[in-house]
Amino acid sequence: MRLEGKVAIITGGASGIGYATVRKFVQEGARVVVADINLAAAQAVADEFTTSASAPVSAVQVDVSDFAAVEAAVAHAVAVFGKLDVIFNNAGIAGGKPLLDHDPAVDYAPMIRIDQDGVYYGILAAGRQFRDQGTGGVIISTSSIYGEQAAELSFTYSAAKAAVISFTRSAAYELAQFGVRAVAITPGRVGTPIINQFSDELKATFAAEQLRNKMTEPEEIANVVAFLASDEANVINGTVVSVDDGYSVFKQRLD
Ligand code: NAD
Repeated sequence: MRLEGKVAIITGGASGIGYATVRKFVQEGARVVVADINLAAAQAVADEFTTSASAPVSAVQVDVSDFAAVEAAVAHAVAVFGKLDVIFNNAGIAGGKPLLDHDPAVDYAPMIRIDQDGVYYGILAAGRQFRDQGTGGVIISTSSIYGEQAAELSFTYSAAKAAVISFTRSAAYELAQFGVRAVAITPGRVGTPIINQFSDELKATFAAEQLRNKMTEPEEIANVVAFLASDEANVINGTVVSVDDGYSVFKQRLD
């Protein structure tokens, strides 16, 4: 119960890494707002945890590319659970085209609005709440291995995910005076709908890119996020925690 008494917002909490993190946070004693653009899926997640005695999970519809909606999600957490201790800025979309095939209006701006601006908005809205509460807080944001390297079909995605790392450093610096920590995570290949849409062959290639030749389970990421959100991770601040099973240290198999 390492998150007992904590209140968290998890964006993109209706699926994949976010959903696994909702489950882990509840197991660890947190109350959670599932904030997702897909309200029906978010509500289904909340309903899973609602017993007649208690409702530790509340759903809210949020498009993270809309600052007012992100502010409303923070207000929702405070209205329902009384405060905010943790925000996990995790909602995101993936995909891309070769650079020279880009139509900027299609292949750049929309993804930047979600994957980059959405994290900025989460940091800003939660940061103001943490300041006003005077309680400190934790900001965890999902970057990617692609935030630290170039990759095929990832011009825009890599830029947005690199910004997430930069935001994390700057937020840690600016918000330390309010007792706030900020951490980014860089997942490698995680078995979620973003990846499961690909062919078995491509998935096997993805798995082989990680040192132990297997895709990461969303629950494995959630375990790390719960630790980072807890007071046990109190000295992890302004940095990137790599959760890629060795992807970033590994170049090529010779067998
Ligand atoms: P997913 O598709 O399973 O979940 C993403 C969730 O975000 C969905 O519930 C979706 O409805 C929600 N979402 C999308 N756009 C939104 C918006 N504008 N506002 C609010 N919610 C929105 O994907 P996932 O793999 O769990 O991805 C979670 C995060 O992890 C993303 O930021 C992704 O870039 C990152 N990531 C994933 C992998 C991987 O291998 N799966 C690797 C590195 C990083």
